[in-house]
Amino acid sequence: MADSQAFIPYGRHHIDDKDIDAVIDVLKNQFLTQGAKAPEFEQALCAYTGAKYATAVNSATSGLHVACLALGVGSGDTVWTVPNSFVASANCALYCNAQIDFVDIDPVTRNISIEALQDKLKKAKSRNKLPKVLIPVHFSGVSCDMRAIALLAKEYGFSVIEDAAHGLGGNYLDHKIGSCEFSDITVLSFHPVKSITTAEGGALLTNDAGLDKKAKLIAKHGVTRDPELMEGESEGPWYYQQVALGFNYRMSDLHAALGITQLQKLDDFVTQRRAIVARYNQALNSLPLKLPLPETLSSSAWHLYMIELTDHDRKATYQALHAKGIGVNVHYIPIHLQPYYQQLGFKAGEYPQAEAFYKNALTLPLFPGLTADEQDRVIQALNEVLA
Ligand SMILES: *Cc1c(COP(=O)(O)O)cnc(C)c1O
Repeated sequence: MADSQAFIPYGRHHIDDKDIDAVIDVLKNQFLTQGAKAPEFEQALCAYTGAKYATAVNSATSGLHVACLALGVGSGDTVWTVPNSFVASANCALYCNAQIDFVDIDPVTRNISIEALQDKLKKAKSRNKLPKVLIPVHFSGVSCDMRAIALLAKEYGFSVIEDAAHGLGGNYLDHKIGSCEFSDITVLSFHPVKSITTAEGGALLTNDAGLDKKAKLIAKHGVTRDPELMEGESEGPWYYQQVALGFNYRMSDLHAALGITQLQKLDDFVTQRRAIVARYNQALNSLPLKLPLPETLSSSAWHLYMIELTDHDRKATYQALHAKGIGVNVHYIPIHLQPYYQQLGFKAGEYPQAEAFYKNALTLPLFPGLTADEQDRVIQALNEVLA
């Protein structure tokens, strides 16, 4: 019986012998941190995405914090993001003592609504409360409308950090997500459920040499050995200076070694994800569900495959699927509904589209290595539960 079979999670990393050998090689033969592997991973990320500069860090959360600081976010500033994301997309502003505010999503793309953004910018301008930074999130792996966002950024004078924690391996127009063609900085995550993994890890990408220098400084204690960044003269070859208040957000070489071999498999991972998605799209299209947009098949990085129930209770459906060993999940509880954010003054009802999406959303299992048999079990279970 299906019920007694192994649990299928919504996401899972894929590690092979090459990954394992690469990490063992670092353990046996190389520096564990501050060696050659993190810079090599940074170069590989640039080569893949087309961005000019990369800084590997120990998580996307750290990357978002560094990105905000590099762009000068501080007290008195406001950062905007979307409510339907992981809390890290918003917390980074609060780490910098800035204020956070949200823009509602577009129910069709599930990404930031350009209309709502335009509207909010107009109102903010009249109150002299324009954001310093906007953090659009490429939800589930589908790029936001970055061209429209870049135009608004120019018109209203704000900076843009792409939260591409879901996006690595996806495309926007003729660019890879991460190219920074339409933004100041892009932040990636290498948490095990994301496109590729370093266990924990993240990276900042940019095409701006000045931002890259700042990011590297902030991620490494604010300490530099570069005479150009120092005050006065170097006192000798041992000399370093702390010129800013930074953090230890470095990625270790163990993690970077894993990132290098994982990145070599990224295109294959995305191809596998797309094949699974094409199969879901076909098998589920007569069920009472809203499926992801079919036109995103070849551009999304397909971090998540999300359905919206149209005729069934979400909690009951979630429980019935879990009882059959199908590990559906929910992404995300809107950030402004979290107790911490409610204490800051945000109210239920403020972002109706994000709240409506949350109410009916379910994330189906999708990861490289999900077998056809496992996917059949998911499809079969959905057919039974939604019959
Ligand atoms: C996973 C995730 C993060 C945080 O990534 P970490 O590497 O775990 O810090 C940030 N934003 C979004 C949208 C995410 O999905």
